[in-house]
Amino acid sequence: MYPIARLCGIAVLLGLLAALLLKNMLLGDAVDFHRHKALLIGIDGVQYEQLKHAMDAGKAPFITQLHPAMSYTGGIIGSSTQQPTFSGPGWATVLTGAWVNRHRIAGNNSSLRNKTDSLFKLISLSSPTRHTASIVSWNPINDNFIDDINAGFIELGVKCGGDDQCTTDRTVQELRTGNFDFIFVHLDQADNAGHENGFGPRYQEAIARVDLQIGQILGALDKRKQQNPDEDWLVMLTTDHGRRPPDGYDHGEQSRSEKTTFIGLNKPANEELTHPIGDPFDSRLDGLYGFASVADIAPTILAHLGINSDPERYVIDGVPLIGHVGVRQLTATLNTATRSVSLRWRVTEGSKQPLRIYRSGQLIAKLTDSSREYIDTELPQPIGPLNYTVVLNDVPVSRLITEPPAKR
Ligand SMILES: [Zn+2]
Repeated sequence: MYPIARLCGIAVLLGLLAALLLKNMLLGDAVDFHRHKALLIGIDGVQYEQLKHAMDAGKAPFITQLHPAMSYTGGIIGSSTQQPTFSGPGWATVLTGAWVNRHRIAGNNSSLRNKTDSLFKLISLSSPTRHTASIVSWNPINDNFIDDINAGFIELGVKCGGDDQCTTDRTVQELRTGNFDFIFVHLDQADNAGHENGFGPRYQEAIARVDLQIGQILGALDKRKQQNPDEDWLVMLTTDHGRRPPDGYDHGEQSRSEKTTFIGLNKPANEELTHPIGDPFDSRLDGLYGFASVADIAPTILAHLGINSDPERYVIDGVPLIGHVGVRQLTATLNTATRSVSLRWRVTEGSKQPLRIYRSGQLIAKLTDSSREYIDTELPQPIGPLNYTVVLNDVPVSRLITEPPAKR
């Protein structure tokens, strides 16, 4: 038998070893946390075909570097996700990965408050050492997210009141000397030019000016990367809505042109962005719903920052555009007559793990076969809001079902 002292010695040694391993693991994570950062550039009211026109004419070289690909906004027409193609709802979806049935920003109104988890909150809560900033030209964005500012989830909130050079300069300054892990910067002048002049040379000039400011921001980021070669920056670019044809003065409705947006990034995207579904379940709007959506931006940034998504709490409608693709085209339909919810999806990437389905945080199914559909017949009474999350390849995606009001 070992003397007690030796047993104690071994125990202490094992304890030290465990502590060392744990410390290494934690340090490893910490290093990763600080290497990965994200810059999200929002350019208001830029219509995709008009942007392509500017790019083809060589007037938008910096935007071109980010390879903008077509996407959609405004949710699905006729469903609880349908939202006006205005800036309030548009930016709320970009910054939450959710549609209006979750974020509740139904219009342009500074008194509305975001009601779902924002990108800022999820990043901030992922680590006490992570810092976020929201630098906007159109002030109501930061008003809609004032709860995040008050809670410290947005550490730096800057409202530039329509002055894009102010948002540009502040972003350049923070990239030079700041220590933010996520910066959202918003530029407004293209939308203003659209409202004042419609499509035409003035609108094209505004896109070119925005491009130059993006050039200033990307230039500051390049310098920072030279000085901090260990930092790994994801840069994303998007808009909040398109414009109404044929003249482009207005927006807010559900036409294809108003719902068409784009997403660009400085890294290779997965097939959700690069290979739109040619025959989407919902074929309206010339197949627009087969493309990525602006709800995909938030989960892409979370994926880059390595923020693990707990499927039991997941409430994001978009899918990440980098790394693995989960299920695509997820639709959830409530049938009140049979008291059931039918889930449908597409799979375009193989998976070794079973597909998992959660209903409001509870695992209800594990599917190992190649099924592309699941019918949930065990709904609670009353049905109430139900959040379905489908996980494939460790990538979750969610849909919110709300019971329609009883007919009289
Ligand atoms: Zn506008």
